[in-house]
Amino acid sequence: MTSFLTSRFGGLALRNVMNNKNGINSFGLRCFSTNSVSGLRNIGISAHIDSGKTTLTERILYYTGRIKEIHEVRGKDGVGAKMDSMDLEREKGITIQSAATYCKWGENHINIIDTPGHVDFTIEVERALRVLDGAVLVMCGVSGVQSQTITVDRQMRRYNVPRVVFINKLDRTGANPWNVIEQLRKKLNLNAIALQVPIGKESNLEGVIDLVTEKAMIFGEKGTAPIIEEIPSNFVEFVKEKKMELVETIANVDDELGEWMIENDFPNNMPDEKTLTAAIRRTTIARKVVPVMMGSAFKNTGVQPLLDGVIKYLPSPNEKKIIALDTSVKDKETEVELESDPKKPFVGLAFKLEEGRFGQLTYMRVYQGTLKRGDTIKNVNLGKTIKVPRLVKMHASEMEEVSEVGPGEICAMFGVDCYSGNTFTHQNCSYTMTSMHVPEPVMSLSIQPKSKDGQANFSKALSKFQKEDPTFRVKSDQESGQIIISGMGELHLEIYVERMKREYNVETVTGKPLVAYRETIQQRGDYNFTHRKQSGGQGQYAKMIGFAEQSENGMENEFVNDVIGTAIPPTFIEAIKKGFKDCIEKGPLIGHPVVGVKFVVSDGNTHSVDSSELAFRIATAGAFKEAFEDGEPTILEPIMKVEISLPQEFQGTVISGVNRRKGAIVNTTTQGESLTFECEVPLNNMFGYSTELRSMTQGKGEFSMEYLKHTNVSRELYNQLLEEYKKKRTEENK
Ligand code: GDP
Repeated sequence: MTSFLTSRFGGLALRNVMNNKNGINSFGLRCFSTNSVSGLRNIGISAHIDSGKTTLTERILYYTGRIKEIHEVRGKDGVGAKMDSMDLEREKGITIQSAATYCKWGENHINIIDTPGHVDFTIEVERALRVLDGAVLVMCGVSGVQSQTITVDRQMRRYNVPRVVFINKLDRTGANPWNVIEQLRKKLNLNAIALQVPIGKESNLEGVIDLVTEKAMIFGEKGTAPIIEEIPSNFVEFVKEKKMELVETIANVDDELGEWMIENDFPNNMPDEKTLTAAIRRTTIARKVVPVMMGSAFKNTGVQPLLDGVIKYLPSPNEKKIIALDTSVKDKETEVELESDPKKPFVGLAFKLEEGRFGQLTYMRVYQGTLKRGDTIKNVNLGKTIKVPRLVKMHASEMEEVSEVGPGEICAMFGVDCYSGNTFTHQNCSYTMTSMHVPEPVMSLSIQPKSKDGQANFSKALSKFQKEDPTFRVKSDQESGQIIISGMGELHLEIYVERMKREYNVETVTGKPLVAYRETIQQRGDYNFTHRKQSGGQGQYAKMIGFAEQSENGMENEFVNDVIGTAIPPTFIEAIKKGFKDCIEKGPLIGHPVVGVKFVVSDGNTHSVDSSELAFRIATAGAFKEAFEDGEPTILEPIMKVEISLPQEFQGTVISGVNRRKGAIVNTTTQGESLTFECEVPLNNMFGYSTELRSMTQGKGEFSMEYLKHTNVSRELYNQLLEEYKKKRTEENK
């Protein structure tokens, strides 16, 4: 039935896993029917850097039998933890790119999407969170809530991800889970409640007591199953007190448990294990409470109960409402709810790409239906159909081949050409998991490899990054011959420059980052333009009359042919259209793209011999310039929505910093001791803000920003930009 290690593929071990008659494969994993979806968990493990996320993940893989040995992060054996599959990560012991792995716990199946821990990699975090049904938030038992815990928590809120907390490092001096829980309540406003109490503290940590089962668990060396014992007598009172707190906290947000308490004479009777577990599960999934477990990953304490907790309290794929967008009607996306039903039409999201020696590896989360090898499926974003190639399940860099993958599952496909974030569906279905709308880049910079040798890898890296990230664009500037990369901010571009160095070994030289200005008009401008060159030989003649005005479609440009009769014949109209396209690529003011302009041709004239397509294309440039100048032109700059989180004590300095950068605070929310400002700030004024915020808040402040809109620049900046452009042109023409 089963053949092992049949081949090596791209340096990755590939195992063939076939299923026996009972639907149980050689790894004891049940194949999917609707029922088994309830035993599936797609979780992420998120944390502030150094909290022990990698160590915990490694222990989980070890206890679930997925790996045979434990290598400590930055361990002396030089091997590094399994989840850090990129060399760089091994070297540094930090996890940058999310890797997907799976393991089995009892009859259940857990997919772990390893979310990146570093603050700069939030694009990756967000994409990974989209795919998760639940998460484990790892906290350090000494440091408690740290700056990045706040960011991760905010992201989890945004994507409605239910979570459990694991307080790690209880073996360290000064660790105190009760302080951390207090901070979760105060700083993050989470309804955090302990499900366990530790036995012993710091270097004497021996185990934990489960408040639901009221049993003690003592942990031995390196992941042996815990010894279950009665509660030590000196803990009985404390456990009673903590259990009461647990039951009351849950009952406060759960009507069902509240009613049970009234009917059953609480506190003379306490809810039994089944009743309490069900109530914790309901309230966790509804995101009304955050259950807290604890231990020490490094000292192998509390990891197995955490796995039990993931199964008991976090939702399976069919317990989370999953919304897709139906794009079958053009320009009108309507929401549809998906079902974790293997028989429904297939819908899946490609959430991560990886370049292997044998082509692209595409990580996919199946949301609905079944993905089968050999089936024909559609890439909704690209409008292309493909045949499903080899399917594998991933475990860091090892893979196991499977023939089909059911709803809720995560797998990877070989050699499929697609972009990260693309949705794949059954041929007759047009759903997308993410809106088709991709924001326009707001910042660009010129880039080139330092030496000629780097050229090949440089091109390879650029094409890979574009596939991974639709907001990362590459173009070559025709005049200067430079390669220009653009993206969603300074940090976004810096990450790619850094990755080029680390992953592709290419050192680069970059220009100054430039904000993506746009040019437009503010009123109607007319033109009546004649292009004439008729001195000897074949001449050129084209006459055009019309106007330009603000487009009704926001930032989009439009071309309208209003010529009645044949004053300008159709072939020349086509030439004008092409000429218009040239014009909008490089605006007349500062050479930035033109947006929001409707260009109308209403009349014109031709010459029987001298008129040509070329003549009309050239004439369009003159006509456009004339209309643009008459239309009160202006320059637009990107305005960013900036979210700044900070402890209240730094409020004053941060506000004055925002004012100095000509930003406006539009909303303020308080969450315990932390404040969040929502501001609108010109991107041009955001350079260097991360350093400034860090020093203003002793490293405790954080910000994220996203593109909001383009608006008029100030008169002062307008003149400055015009002046700079003029200077640049003069230098270029020297
Ligand atoms: P990550 O950055 O969150 O992935 O954290 P790592 O797993 O890389 O751990 C950071 C450091 O903390 C490493 O040196 C680990 O060995 C150490 N560490 C992880 N878990 C524990 C723990 O439970 N107790 C102690 N004392 N150290 C730990």
